[in-house]
Parts: sequence; structure tokens; C-alpha cells
Amino acid sequence: MSGMLIVVATPIGNLGDLSARALDVLATATVVYCEDTRHSRQIFSAHQISAAGRLRSLHEHNEAALCDEVVARVANGETVALISDAGTPGVSDPGERVVAAVANAGLIVTTAPGPSAVIAALSVSGLASDRFVMEGFLPRRGSERAKRIEQLGLEQRTAVIYEAPGRLVDTLRELSDRLGDRRAVVARELTKLHEEVARGTLSELAKQFSVGDVRGEIVIVLNGAEAPPETDDATIVDALEVELRSGATLRDAASSVASTLKAPHRRVYQLALDIRRDNPH
Ligand code: SAM
Repeated sequence: MSGMLIVVATPIGNLGDLSARALDVLATATVVYCEDTRHSRQIFSAHQISAAGRLRSLHEHNEAALCDEVVARVANGETVALISDAGTPGVSDPGERVVAAVANAGLIVTTAPGPSAVIAALSVSGLASDRFVMEGFLPRRGSERAKRIEQLGLEQRTAVIYEAPGRLVDTLRELSDRLGDRRAVVARELTKLHEEVARGTLSELAKQFSVGDVRGEIVIVLNGAEAPPETDDATIVDALEVELRSGATLRDAASSVASTLKAPHRRVYQLALDIRRDNPH
């Protein structure tokens, strides 16, 4: 029998959210790599399955060092399961390096999919969810944080951000100051006893959560930026005429105007052809 690595999603709160298949994989895998063995033992005991010496710790700091060991086990025909403390491994959690190592060795990587806070929060947000970006945790400070927030300023897709409770209000305020008062949703403690889904503008949410301590696990779902208004034909034609008068070829004028006005090249080039047709000399 060929070995495989199975990436298994575990609950983000409610233990009942472990799928029947995930349970079967955890019960039968030769070995289960998890972040914190003590934490993961709870899932095993809640479902009355024995961990019996099959749990190994794989976390941020030893993942790289364990890649060879995992590859060797899979190559040896073992069924290796990978879980994280909660949700889907690899999503703001360890996993991507070990998955890449097994895949790069030409071995099987498969999944028992299930809970992830990003999808859970997006699905209850009511914000556009046909296209979205997963920001995960923003850098805590410095130019890297400023750069990522600046990129969100232009991002038209809904963004999903993981945040620690103690930083929620400051982050909501900062996002409101830097991006304008966009609509957002704060999803807190999903699937748990104190689940809360708060909706409003960034400043309304900052005000709401600034009363008392914020506790629990939190996802911010942020409405995307408005699409910039389309440049009208007259503006494009004016810009093209300036370029053409200064001696640019039709092609160069169209490229330059399309990039300056951020207009579709094909449309700008068509307008340039129209100008040339109307004024052949
Ligand atoms: N791998 C996980 C997943 O698939 O969602 C994410 C792990 S990341 C280290 C932990 C973060 O996920 C938390 O800080 C919080 O932002 C979010 N999160 C996890 N469980 C949550 C829950 N029940 N409700 C809201 N957010 C949650």
C-alpha cells in the first residue's frame, strides 16, 4: 500500500464539527503530526479514539527540520495525518513546508477538508464572497504593516483578516483612518458558546468593541474598495491628442495614455484609430 500525507481540518471551536472522515483518518493514521500534543489529545478523547503514542509535535519552529522525517515515513508506506491546533493546517498555521516537501518528493498529499475560520467568517459576513483575499494576520507594526494596509486601500475584493482580541479596536481604527469608513464584519468565537457576528462600518465597530474587554478569537471581514470611476472617452481623446501632437506614434500614444489613465489598452487604441481616421494628416 502506498503511503500518503493527509491534511486534516479540525474544529475551530465546536468539537462536533470534526467530520466523520477526519475522525476515521485520525483513528487509523500511523502517526498524527499536530502543533501541541496536549491540546490535540482533547480531540481524541472527546471522540473516544486512542492517540496511543501516535501524536508527534510539529510546530512553526521545528517544521523545516521535520520535513525529511515526514517524507521518509510517507515513502515507507505510512499513512501520516497532519492537523493543527484548530481549523485547517497551513492556513496561518504550520503545514505548507511539510506539504511541499512530500509533494516535491513525488508522494501523495491528500486532504480531509473541513473547518477554517477564514471561510466560516466569510460565509456569515454577508459581504461579497465570490472573490476574496485572505490577509491572515497583518504584520504587527512598522513599514510592512503600513504597506499591507496601503495595498488593502486598492483591493476591490473582500479581505479576511485574523486579529488578536487585544488589538481589535486599534486595528479597526487604523483601517478606518487609512482606508475610509468601509463596511466590515467582526466574527468572534465562531461555533462557540459566545459566538458574535457584528456588522457595521469600521468606526462603528471600533466604538462598539471599545466598551469593555474584547475576548476570544476574532476575524475581521473587510468590504473591498470601490472600483475607480471609469475614465470617459473625452478625457482619453484629449490625452491621445496631446501625445500625437508631440510626435508619438499611434501605438506609443495608446500605450502611454492607457497606462497613465489606467484605461483598457484596447479601448484607448480604438479611440486612437478613430482620431487618425478622422484626421488622416
Ligand atoms: N488554521 C486556522 C484556520 O484554518 O482558521 C487558523 C489558525 S490561526 C493561528 C488562529 C486565528 O484564527 C485566530 O487568532 C482567529 O483570528 C482565527 N480563528 C480561529 N478560530 C476562530 C473562531 N472560532 N472564531 C473566530 N476566529 C477564529
